[in-house]
Amino acid sequence: MAFAYCPDCASRIYLGRKPWLNQPAFCDQCEADLEVVRLNPPVLDWVDEVADDPWQQEPELLADAELATSD
Ligand SMILES: [Zn+2]
Repeated sequence: MAFAYCPDCASRIYLGRKPWLNQPAFCDQCEADLEVVRLNPPVLDWVDEVADDPWQQEPELLADAELATSD
């Protein structure tokens, strides 16, 4: 069995038998949305930090869509 510790309140969170990278986890103590960012040993981090740059990717996606339709 694998456990990791909440980065916020340091409570122990059960991750199941075999945790995987980016596995979602939830802290019952402080209600934080977490995910597995490292294995062996498992380390949890906040989910919010990963989805930090959607604004930078959006213009590229729009440009790709325009190129595809003008072909
Ligand atoms: Zn917590």
